[in-house]
Amino acid sequence: AHEEALAARSKDNLRSPICCILGHVDTGKTKLLDKIRQTNVQEGEAGGITQQIGATYFPLDALQQKTAVVNQDGKFEFKVPGLLVIDTPGHESFSNLRSRGSSLCNIAILVVDIMHGLEPQTLESMKLLRDRKTPFIVALNKIDRLYGWKKIDNNGFQESLAMQNKGVQNEFRDRLEKTKLAFAEQSFNAELYYENRDMRRFVSMVPTSAHTGEGIPDMLKLLVSLTQERMTSSLMYLSEVECTVLEVKVIEGLGTTIDVIISNGVLREGDRIVLCGLNGPIATNIRALLTPAPLKELRLKSQYVHNKEAKAALGVKIAANDLEGAIAGSRLLVVGPEDDEEDLEDEVMGDLQQLLSKVSKDNRGVSVQASTLGSLEALLEFLKQSKIPVANISIGPVFKRDVMMAGTMLEKAKEYAVMLCFDVKVDKEAQQYADDNGIKIFTADIIYHLFDDFTKHRAAIQEQKKEESKLSAVFPCVLSPLQVFNKKDPIVIGVDVIEGNLRPLTPIAVVKANAVTGVKEIISLGRVTSIEREHKAIPICKKGQPSVAVKIEGPNQPMYGRQLEDKDTLYSLISRQSIDTLKDFYREEMSKEEWALVKKLKPLFDIP
Ligand code: GDP
Repeated sequence: AHEEALAARSKDNLRSPICCILGHVDTGKTKLLDKIRQTNVQEGEAGGITQQIGATYFPLDALQQKTAVVNQDGKFEFKVPGLLVIDTPGHESFSNLRSRGSSLCNIAILVVDIMHGLEPQTLESMKLLRDRKTPFIVALNKIDRLYGWKKIDNNGFQESLAMQNKGVQNEFRDRLEKTKLAFAEQSFNAELYYENRDMRRFVSMVPTSAHTGEGIPDMLKLLVSLTQERMTSSLMYLSEVECTVLEVKVIEGLGTTIDVIISNGVLREGDRIVLCGLNGPIATNIRALLTPAPLKELRLKSQYVHNKEAKAALGVKIAANDLEGAIAGSRLLVVGPEDDEEDLEDEVMGDLQQLLSKVSKDNRGVSVQASTLGSLEALLEFLKQSKIPVANISIGPVFKRDVMMAGTMLEKAKEYAVMLCFDVKVDKEAQQYADDNGIKIFTADIIYHLFDDFTKHRAAIQEQKKEESKLSAVFPCVLSPLQVFNKKDPIVIGVDVIEGNLRPLTPIAVVKANAVTGVKEIISLGRVTSIEREHKAIPICKKGQPSVAVKIEGPNQPMYGRQLEDKDTLYSLISRQSIDTLKDFYREEMSKEEWALVKKLKPLFDIP
């Protein structure tokens, strides 16, 4: 009968879809997973849910049982053989389920706390899902916290909602509408799932409670119907193995092992496999294909069961030699009889090469380091969108050599002498070297925290550079002389500001033809050291304001009565460098008129 059932199912030839859970911290991702896994005590074991490595498998029977309350007429037809749900919620596992830049995750659940709406990591998750073109549904979780909610454990949502009093229903509608609006602001159209008339254009939202289990039957049914109706092409069985490394773990007695998700095809004990490693490609033979021992057999000698083969979709642990440098997020390829092992090695290493090709061409940028290929890729994508250039990338813990690479920026562009490290450890010696040499290392396990850290750091450096360049910044102005109070050392002169704004420290010059040769001369008078009106110092005199007395000091000052005449117009002494400094640091302080004046003064000082 089992064979028959299998044959019947393979008529449509679909494999089980793979599902990930993402969302902001504390929205209830872990609790939801627990609740879905929970077997129904009254009805006994729910149809053979199996704990796998890194994932839980829900066979058809279990899905049918768990969705029964929302399928009472039995009309909903299941076409997929089951559902594989990844156990570790969050970005990390989602980003590592990757293959040639696309995702092996067929559908995702984005969990939103109905009491909080969209939060920073919700947005980050949405970006990831959009980048990888992964369809998702939204679980609007914690509905039991709506004030006055009356629960019926594990009920379908619509029935539960109908039972609530008007106040609760209104609060629900209110929060639903607010969430829709928030999604719309992110350019996502979202609808309550049973009011969604167009699955292609609208994201479906399912209200759930991980505490009472309400809405979870609706959620599972929605996952299944979406995947089997919309994604059949990606759920076709292939003979070719499609497999990715989720985690690299050292296990006592087994050495370094890899936990993988097989999303298509079959892996066998003894298969020759290749994957991407920190120190080059890894080629090895599968020594053991392990799955967890069922609960009742746990007291037997091993916690794992050995399998001769493993068929998609499945999570297994692989034991083999030489796995030490394996990178999570790497693809795993099987070397077939026709294959050239070296070609496959090039192919898996290509994933890392492809990321390398994304770094800045002119070698100016930050250094980025992450724990896995998937998170590195996600981080690079995020930095690209945030317009932060990247010069170096690496995977694994931060060592001194990595910091030294980042240090090469100190000369070129100080603000980029920064390491943005995602979920990796920093070696002590590396940190010391960074501290000694003024290289910043930021570590975080939330991507946008790194962005915030870097943005603050860049602003601080910009401020410091601005301070350092204060003397090179020349705000343009033109002064008309009224009366010379002191001819030299210092020059003190009464003026009207006829163009621009005059500020202290502005270098002043007179431009006139030499009395003898007739050649144009730029005579520097020194810098303005004080601006006074009615014997009171003022910080700025703007065009058209009442006249001021300015003191001008500097080395080798020319003298009124010799090179200078009482009627000579005075100009701010600008240069290429002073203009660049304004452009670099003072854009916000410069008005349109001031830029126009800079332009007008350029020919006077022979600036091209
Ligand atoms: P995660 O960080 O997204 O994995 O969130 P958790 O699953 O750890 O849940 C965070 C907190 O919210 C815990 O205290 C949970 O008990 C609580 N929580 C999760 N789901 C629900 C829910 O549906 N209703 C209520 N009232 N609390 C919930």
